[in-house]
Amino acid sequence: MPLKIVRNDITKMECDAIVNAANTSLLGGGGVDGAIHKAAGKALLVECKKLGGCEVGRAKITNAYKLSCKHVIHTVGPKWNGGNCGERELLQSCYKESLNLALNNDCKSVAFPLISSGVYGYPKDKALKVAVDTITEFLTEYDMLVYIVVFDKSAFQISEKLFSDISSFIDDRYVDTHFIYRRNRPIVTDESDESIESQSIDGSKKHKTATPHCTCASAPKAISLEDMVSKIDESFSQMLLRKIDEKGITDAQCYKKANVDRKLFSKIRNDINYRPSKTTAIAFAIALELSLADTKDMLMKAGFALSHSNKFDIIIEYFITHENYNIFEINEALFAFDQSVLG
Ligand code: ADP
Repeated sequence: MPLKIVRNDITKMECDAIVNAANTSLLGGGGVDGAIHKAAGKALLVECKKLGGCEVGRAKITNAYKLSCKHVIHTVGPKWNGGNCGERELLQSCYKESLNLALNNDCKSVAFPLISSGVYGYPKDKALKVAVDTITEFLTEYDMLVYIVVFDKSAFQISEKLFSDISSFIDDRYVDTHFIYRRNRPIVTDESDESIESQSIDGSKKHKTATPHCTCASAPKAISLEDMVSKIDESFSQMLLRKIDEKGITDAQCYKKANVDRKLFSKIRNDINYRPSKTTAIAFAIALELSLADTKDMLMKAGFALSHSNKFDIIIEYFITHENYNIFEINEALFAFDQSVLG
């Protein structure tokens, strides 16, 4: 996936370049700047002293010394001053300049902290949105693996309303799963029962008909293994390509929206039996804005399901049934519920 949001200490990131949220002097400071200088060693400061500072919104590159990456890109974010003083444009410029420097220095991977969101006071959720939007736009033109490294969860702040909507959606489905389990138990213990009375969640009695056991003589003839194999259904790869055609979008539009790497996409395209990971399959379903039924079908072709026994799956189901296919918002919600994010 070309854009990944991870929770980590940026000095520990294994990639070609890490970005430093520096100040205009470039002579080191607190926060992430202090952590990077400490991990890189004194030689970094010696090189920084030769750079003559850096303006807000601009970026400069140095070696990385004791860090495991090759370069440090120093950029100076704007101080938050209420939001009407060009903060957004300056912050966008930090990301663009840093990405261009990474590109011109042959970096295949780069990690950003949430610039300006510490001492400089840019609200973390807004800072994250600027980071995601600017990086995503860059990645529509260039191939690079970009990480956004978030230190704490407050960068992901979904509204109280959305949080409580998703919470009750999850609760309903968890209860539903357990309820179905209880309701089905007697069928297992007493196979002769054709129906079963059970208590619903609100306390009322429900009458449910159990699936009758097939004892009739005219059961369909067993099909041979050869017949079954010849009837193998459309594969994941075939369904993906069909859906791309049906939606009238290009391959590139699809894999970029899904935040899936071009190489991975061509593997899927060229191998009819390719089995993607579950998150990749979901990312394609979201990018293609599939219905819940189609999403389940597509996942099944990759050997997966959306279950009601884990929160990740239920949150994905929530967004699909609400026809909200915004990966950014889905990720915010996944993060808020301590789930791993897509991409
Ligand atoms: P700024 O002055 O641009 O606000 P800060 O260093 O104060 O820069 O903070 C920028 C962001 O980096 C904050 O969200 C902070 O939580 C985060 N941060 C601080 N230390 C690290 C670290 N070691 N790795 C990743 N992020 C960090």
